This record gives sequence, C-alpha cells and structure tokens, in this order.
Amino acid sequence: MSDPKSAETPRTAPTPDDTALLRGLPWPDSTSRPLGSPIQPSVVYASDSPDALDAQYEGRAQGYTYAREGHPNADTLAARIDGLEGAEGGIVTGSGMAAVTLALLGACGAGDHVLGGDQLYGRSLRLMTEELPRLGIETSLADPTDSAAIAAALRPNTRLVLIETVSNPTLRIADLAGIAALCRARGILLAVDSTFSTPRALRPLEHGADLVIHSVTKLLAGHSDATLGYLAARDPDLRARLRVCAVTMGLTPSPFDCWLAERGLLSFALRHDRAEANAARLADHLAGLPGVRRVIYPGRADHPDHARAQTLLGPRGGTMLSFEIAGGRAAANALTRAASQIAFAPTLGDIGTTLSHPASSSHRALSHEARAAIGISEGFFRVSAGVEEGDWLAAQFTAAIAAAAAAG
Ligand SMILES: *Cc1c(COP(=O)(O)O)cnc(C)c1O
Repeated sequence: MSDPKSAETPRTAPTPDDTALLRGLPWPDSTSRPLGSPIQPSVVYASDSPDALDAQYEGRAQGYTYAREGHPNADTLAARIDGLEGAEGGIVTGSGMAAVTLALLGACGAGDHVLGGDQLYGRSLRLMTEELPRLGIETSLADPTDSAAIAAALRPNTRLVLIETVSNPTLRIADLAGIAALCRARGILLAVDSTFSTPRALRPLEHGADLVIHSVTKLLAGHSDATLGYLAARDPDLRARLRVCAVTMGLTPSPFDCWLAERGLLSFALRHDRAEANAARLADHLAGLPGVRRVIYPGRADHPDHARAQTLLGPRGGTMLSFEIAGGRAAANALTRAASQIAFAPTLGDIGTTLSHPASSSHRALSHEARAAIGISEGFFRVSAGVEEGDWLAAQFTAAIAAAAAAG
C-alpha cells in the first residue's frame, strides 16, 4: 500500500539539497599523511580552464584527466614494480594477457614475424597461433632452452621474440643469455614474460631483454583478488609508443585492482622467500615418497637445466615445482580429494599453496600425444608453494600421495 501523504506531495524535481549533494567538496585536510595508499576511483578529473588543460596535455603541469589514460593508483603500482625490475616508465595493464597483447600489438605490425617459445602460457600461445595471424602478423614457435633452435627459426622479418624464462608446467629454463645475444646481433626485440621467475630471482632487462612482462595477478599481487599485468620497455621511444597503444586499445587497469595489488606487493619479498623455502623442501620430500615417479624443481641437481637455473635464477629454485605419480585419472582424483586443505585451482602465486593438473586444465586442449610429448600425463601435477608451515605442508602431500597410490 502506498503512503497517502506522499501521494499528496509528489516529488517531481530535485530539491536544492539534492543538487548540493552533486557538488564537489574539498577533501578534508590532514597535516599528517596516511600510511596506506589512498584509493582514487574517480574516472574523470575536473580542470580549472582550457589553459590548465593545455598545460597538462603539453607536459608543463602534472595532472590526470581520464582514468583510462592514467590514475594515481596505476602510477603508484607501476613505480613500485619498476623499482623491483630496475625499469623505468613501466605500464600497468588490466591483466597479464593485456600486457602480453600490448607488447605484441604495440611493437609489431602486419608483415612482421614473431617467434615464441614453444611452451608459453596457454593464452599467449593462442594469441600467437589464432589472433596475430588474423592481423597479418606471422608467428612460429621454437624451443627456448636451445638457442640453436631459436636461431634456426628466425626469419628476415622477425621483429620480436617472446619467451618465458621458466616454462609452464615442466619448469624448463630458457637459454636467456644465448637468445639475448642472437636478438641483439640482429636488432630483434626480446620480450620476456617473467611471471614465474619474478624480479626476486631475475631482472630480464639486466640480461639483455628489451621488454619485461608480468601477470601481476600471480606472485606480485599474491592474494588471488586482483587481475593485472605489467609491461616495461628499455627504449624510451618504444615505451612512449606502448603507452599510447595501452590507452587507445583500452588495456589499462582499474584503480581498485591497482590498490589491492599494491597492498599485496608490499609483502612480496617475504611471501616469495617463504614460499621458495617451502617449494625446495616439498620437492625433496616428494622425491623421497613411494609412488612419486619424478619431481621437477629447478633447484634440484636432477633437474635437466639445473646449472642454467643456478646461473640465471640464483642458488635457489623458485616457488614452483611439478611432480608425477603413477596411475591415471582415478589416482589423480584421489590425490586432489585427499589434499582437501590444498586448493586445487589452476593458478599460481597465491599466498596459499595451490595444486593444478595440467591435463584437465591448462593443457586440456592438447591431444593426448601432444601432452605426452612434453611429459604431461594424467599423473602430472604442478604445485605453487605458499607460505604455510612446512611440516604441515609435507604431511598434506604425504597423505595425498598415499591416497592416490591406494586408488591407482
Ligand atoms: C597467468 C599468466 C599470464 C596471464 O595473466 P592474467 O593476469 O591471467 O591475464 C601470462 N603469462 C604467464 C606466464 C602467466 O602465468
């Protein structure tokens, strides 16, 4: 039933009070500074005059105009990641894939050839094989652990080589030094997606890369609550070109995600080091368990690229490991169910340990034979170590592997 009084006095127009509500108010002053970064969600910024706008657009005054073109939360986050990477003028993007896309579309055009590593992140592979050819950009793939294979795959029109230093999920280590030398000699841009290694282990720009890419979504933000990417270029002209592309193509991020990621980033080094210690310990623990066929961890002496991992990534082995158990799908199902305290989720870099099964997730589009060729069976699992207590983590895996053995 409607209220009879309100029916007598219908509101047909906003009152002066309603209108006053729409007016901007000065932000309250504080002589003390907030310790946490403020969040600025405003999409637009009001200016004083056309002259003031001119000054901003012509670089005589610093200021924001429209959030897709830039906002304080993106700039603050970018500056922090720049500091970790030893980069300048890095760009934060709306996702890791936006950063990969920006690198490729910003630096290449129709008629160029892009050479990619043959075990790139799944969506990067799809970008290479399905989207770029549609735009007239030639693409092909080669094994980045073998610089001779990369050299053989270069073409006269190769404009850019895209690699990941640590491959997913087999954790092979690219010959970064060899590939950087090839690219430098031929004036080809080298882009390194450094999501798995992180700047804590490797700063690609210091190893001859021209572009460094991150899925900030993963370890850098670290809490699985923000989807973001990062791209930095060594050359100032390319950097300026990429910034224009990011804004025009709408690849730029939301303030809220940047704000969350910045908060996560503050504990990145601590999370990384603790997760890495857990990964190293878990790798050795798994290697000693009956029912585990093999363990892949760059920090172990039995890793095929162990020596290269040590020179490139330092004495430790990173936060990721993979392992293979005997048995098929039934054993795999038993393992994830028994590891009920470990999130079975196709991601990495979360503060907690996550477990993924490439055959049913990241690599499900491949044929059984194509998966077998890179060593991915039904018993193959990838672990992204988190910061849990090490004994507890080892016990979780002991129980899970025993359950898998009983089922398989
Ligand atoms: C996750 C990931 C990406 C894509 O990042 P999103 O933030 O999910 O778009 C790119 N490269 C690598 C190596 C990744 O792990």
